[in-house]
Amino acid sequence: MDDRTFDLLVRAERVVAGGTEEPRAIGVRGGVIAAVLPIDAAAFAAEEITIGADAVVLPGVVDTHVHVCEPGNAAWEGFATATAAAAAGGVTTLVDMPIDSVPATVDPDALAAKRHATEGRLHVDVGFWGGVVPTSLGSMDALLEAGVVGFKCFLADSGAEDFPPLDDQSLELALAVTARTGVPLMVHAEDLAGVPAPGPSRRYADWLATRPRATEDRAVTRVLEATRRTGGRAHIAHLSSATALPALAAARAEGVAVTAETCPHYLLLSAEEIGDGDTAAKCSPPVRDAANRTALWEGLAAGVLDAVVSDHSPCLPQMKSLDTGDFSTAWAGISSLQVALPAAWTAARARGFRLTDLVRWMAEAPADLAGLPAKGRIVVGADADLCVMAPEEPFVVDRSCLLHRHPVCPYVGKELFGIVRATMLRGHWLDANSSPLGRLVRRSAA
Ligand SMILES: [Zn+2]
Repeated sequence: MDDRTFDLLVRAERVVAGGTEEPRAIGVRGGVIAAVLPIDAAAFAAEEITIGADAVVLPGVVDTHVHVCEPGNAAWEGFATATAAAAAGGVTTLVDMPIDSVPATVDPDALAAKRHATEGRLHVDVGFWGGVVPTSLGSMDALLEAGVVGFKCFLADSGAEDFPPLDDQSLELALAVTARTGVPLMVHAEDLAGVPAPGPSRRYADWLATRPRATEDRAVTRVLEATRRTGGRAHIAHLSSATALPALAAARAEGVAVTAETCPHYLLLSAEEIGDGDTAAKCSPPVRDAANRTALWEGLAAGVLDAVVSDHSPCLPQMKSLDTGDFSTAWAGISSLQVALPAAWTAARARGFRLTDLVRWMAEAPADLAGLPAKGRIVVGADADLCVMAPEEPFVVDRSCLLHRHPVCPYVGKELFGIVRATMLRGHWLDANSSPLGRLVRRSAA
């Protein structure tokens, strides 16, 4: 076959690849990127499309923090709805969290149940985190063998009886497995020892006061110490507290194998803007003040924070206490999978960051974390997973356009920049009528 003959050729004025944004032509063959050429290169394809300068071609977003909740809590969310929302939002790979489904994904049988629940339902590619609870440490190797991308544990009460936290001794045992295998242990790093439970209140400040930054900072320190002692590989989930960044930076500088992620809601929202009773914005750790938000951006700019992921954490609408607005009873979790890319971009754009930064945080770094070298990059040999976004085009988030099982989302009614015009999965353009083409992915490298 001629080197310059493709199934599909995408010529675009703006393609983010290799850390730059330039005019390029992307040749796709067999669902894989076969060439990245100058935009005007001589080439032949069965189908050719041209994208003008008002839109940019990005690698499909890799969202490594998504709670799909199926099986068991499919009324909260499910693989069909979550992956349809992902596709609409430019996300071509998601990695499902091991908590909020029944059973929790803490052993190979539970992973098999997860896999079964995906059959015929996936609109984008899906991988799995394996859960680690005190009684499942012995299942870590079997889970890895069965295809999880890595592990997830809690240091504080997760709110789920089947997902208790690890103490420091169990944390070290889990990290010892990561030292041996090279796969990451993602840690929900909050330490709530001595923190009073929230009382009934519609005031956001009351909820925030029960989860001060020290709760995260203490937990991050525990993770860093255990990682240093074991030579393991840790990843801090959804970091909200900017005062944890100096310890994180220092540990990284001395060679401790730790990475960290934050989320669009910590980067775009602030405590000052969350109104009384606006429980759609409740999550844990909580959205903090505007000064903290600025410091998180500095952490991203400095590379202390690696990734931006949605932490899409849905539930039944009634669990959000929208009627009473009581922060103490509302589910702690934000649904945002479909709008995570424009939400992060809206905030990044306003602070002078570039699309190359966004791609590093939302595609490359998560793909690296999950050991998915065929994902998150526009390079020869990678899957032809693309997102075409109009970065300067604003839109108001309309609940009727959200494909999550339940359209409860703190961005409803807000104006965001970055309309996702098209999403391609392994060479196929996805639309509302696409058959489910998603596949399961597993870690291919430590
Ligand atoms: Zn989560």
